Amino acid sequence: MNMNISIVVALYNESESIPELVAWIERVMAEHKYSYELIMVDDGSSDASWTRIEQAAQSNPNIHAIGFRRNYGKSAALFCGFKKASGNVVITMDADLQDSPDEIPELYRMIVDEGYDLVSGWKKKRRDNRLTKNLPSKIYNATARKMTGIKLHDMNCGLKAYRSIVVKSIEVYGEMHRYIPVLAAKSGFTRIGEKPVEHRARKYGITKFGWNRFINGFLDLLSILFISRFGKKPMHLFGLLGTLMFLLGFLSIGWLGSQKLYHVHRGIRTSLVTDSPYFYLALTAMILGTQLFLSGFLGELISRNSTERNTYQIDKEL
Ligand code: UDP
Ligand code: MG
Repeated sequence: MNMNISIVVALYNESESIPELVAWIERVMAEHKYSYELIMVDDGSSDASWTRIEQAAQSNPNIHAIGFRRNYGKSAALFCGFKKASGNVVITMDADLQDSPDEIPELYRMIVDEGYDLVSGWKKKRRDNRLTKNLPSKIYNATARKMTGIKLHDMNCGLKAYRSIVVKSIEVYGEMHRYIPVLAAKSGFTRIGEKPVEHRARKYGITKFGWNRFINGFLDLLSILFISRFGKKPMHLFGLLGTLMFLLGFLSIGWLGSQKLYHVHRGIRTSLVTDSPYFYLALTAMILGTQLFLSGFLGELISRNSTERNTYQIDKEL
């Protein structure tokens, strides 16, 4: 029989939390009689995290772990955890005890019984530092909702459940763990649900993400939208912009030039073409247009060489 649940936990310097987290997960899994595996990915911790994991694994054969040689980031940790996961439903959660394992059964049920591809936790009542996290996080989520069209209140919640095929079909990299629902939707997994979850205060250790998460997060959002829209056809963006820009410059120069010729022909005294500010604007527009166009060609050359240029998600076949 297939395994019910794979729990993937990315962790970085969370040694105090690990024993409690593992015990809690074990309790919930036993109560509901799930077959499961717990995959802990140690993202290059410099504290005793790995030792704690080893200790936990000794008494529980369902615990597996990967330890990075250095700190690569949460996305890298999740990526490797996803690769290893073999359960029907994959649950991700943070290691810091802010996410409650008690939410797992309901998340699991939503995937299996209600047919969701992905269910994201929603920390309706956040137990974080108010000003530095809650407000920016609200603005950030509103922006992400507007730009991606995915109606989630809490895109970046660490507690999520996935149908196994979803995590096998997406590639989380860089800091894209914030946008897994977007990655999933762009891969065609659009049944995305949300469940309000309990959020607890951090009991041990400190947060690993500072204020710059919002700037980086926003830049990543732009990248993700750009790549999903134009990643396979960069010329459609750059070519269009370049052509418009070039035409603007070309027509303006044409207008200036023909005006000049007309005046010369009629013998009317006029100033030099280069005295007009429009001449320089037109010149700049033509140069920028050419560059944009060339960027498009370069983009095409790069994507032509990409191993992913013909990667598609095939859902059905007869
Ligand atoms: N984490 C990680 N690698 C990192 C940073 C964080 O695996 O480079 C883990 C961290 O140990 C925790 C989860 O990602 O389990 C969420 O991090 P944190 O609790 O610091 O984020 P916050 O809850 O403050 O958003
Ligand atoms: Mg946390």
